[in-house]
Amino acid sequence: MKNYSSYLEIRKDLEDQIVTCETLVNHYLVNIHKHSQLNVFLEVYEEEALEQAKRIQEKIENNSAGTLAGLVVGIKDVLAYKGHGLGSASKILTGFKSQFTASAVQRLIDQDAIIIGRQNCDEFAMGSSNENSAYGPVVNGKGNQKVPGGSSGGSAVAVQMDMCQVSLGTDTGGSVRQPAAFCGVVGMKPTYSRISRYGLAAYASSFDTIGTLTKSVEDSALLLETMAGDDEYDSTVSTKEVPAYTQKLQKEDKFKVAYLAETLSHEGLNHEIKDAVENLLKKLTNRGHQVSEANFDLLDYLLPTYYILTTAEASSNLSRYDGVKFGHRTEDSKNLESMYKKTRSEGFGEEVKRRIMLGTFVLSASYYDAFYTKAQKARRLIKEQTEEILSKYDFIVSPTTSTVAFDIGSINDSLEMFLADLFTVQASVAGIPAISIPYGVDKEGMPIGIQIMSRHFSEEKLLAFARQILAEVN
Ligand code: GLN
Repeated sequence: MKNYSSYLEIRKDLEDQIVTCETLVNHYLVNIHKHSQLNVFLEVYEEEALEQAKRIQEKIENNSAGTLAGLVVGIKDVLAYKGHGLGSASKILTGFKSQFTASAVQRLIDQDAIIIGRQNCDEFAMGSSNENSAYGPVVNGKGNQKVPGGSSGGSAVAVQMDMCQVSLGTDTGGSVRQPAAFCGVVGMKPTYSRISRYGLAAYASSFDTIGTLTKSVEDSALLLETMAGDDEYDSTVSTKEVPAYTQKLQKEDKFKVAYLAETLSHEGLNHEIKDAVENLLKKLTNRGHQVSEANFDLLDYLLPTYYILTTAEASSNLSRYDGVKFGHRTEDSKNLESMYKKTRSEGFGEEVKRRIMLGTFVLSASYYDAFYTKAQKARRLIKEQTEEILSKYDFIVSPTTSTVAFDIGSINDSLEMFLADLFTVQASVAGIPAISIPYGVDKEGMPIGIQIMSRHFSEEKLLAFARQILAEVN
């Protein structure tokens, strides 16, 4: 079967009876089994997906199918799907099954998308390499034993290796964009609050977004327009009207594009990635866009701000895993308190424990002002400075990551690992939308990603610009 770059092509072939939903599902299942050593799926809903395929195929034949009929979707193991396992790639949720479906997932199902399985990730979405999963690392389909990035690593490799057409991931500080860059796919994080978080296992609630991993910008637009919008189950979701993103993709305006001096001159930036960004900026100038340098002098404050605030929120969010309500409970406890302690000690992995402790520390009475309050203030400054740049420019273009995918096991230090998020956390701290698109490969054939950020709720323009750039590369 052909490797479809967008659902539009699939839909056409379904309607022209060149493929059926069953052929599609079988094709992805073959790839899932063929690449099982990449450790991408934690559970595959094989029979169920085939049954759905049959049911939806009939709907196509009766002309009653939804807008996503036959779109095969993989979901990161932090999204609830009623009656199915939900583990956040953690031992603490062993055996837990969702009692309801995440709104974002439900909206895809309502349009006849087919969910093929749940995907491996870093435990509770904490990590940048997928090595923090309790079920072992995911392996990048490119290179020799390279990480896929994280935390949505399984979701990125699934799209890279055609194990599903698209994946839903989550992005708190870069978890969709960074793996997309490492795997050579498109990763989009919408504006904070654009998509309901109902049914998403919380990591850091004021940062968490549901994002998409796709082969094309067209598919990102399609998923976003289906999932975004008001939801009675999430009081923080935006009620702003959802534009028809897919209808606006062909727009080819001339834009004002900024790049950040501090980013491009960063000492940690790999020179092949730097060359790729400079090459794109030159092309944009030649095409008549106005490209200028802008300054963002808060770059050094991004990671500390992000890690203080997200660990604080995580320490609170993860307090619910206490052995009473969900999943794992220790077999060996003397009283209630020792049950809590043992359950949590046994259930959580190293990185999650480290973050709960760090978050508890920054929220403790004696350090609250010195760390938490200060980081909140820094967040405000970062947001304001980012918005100030975006009031003068339509987009900020930057590398998605400072390096390409690295070897599994090569980074053992948390602080060094945090550097993988250097360029992605700005959009998360500011709450703005950002997309990573593949932009060539390095000398060894490893993918390079370019990130584009834009103003709050300007996904329409962001997607059209990203599509335009990708169309020129290919
Ligand atoms: N790598 C970042 C972290 O570990 C981002 C994770 C995410 O976006 N979920 O926090």
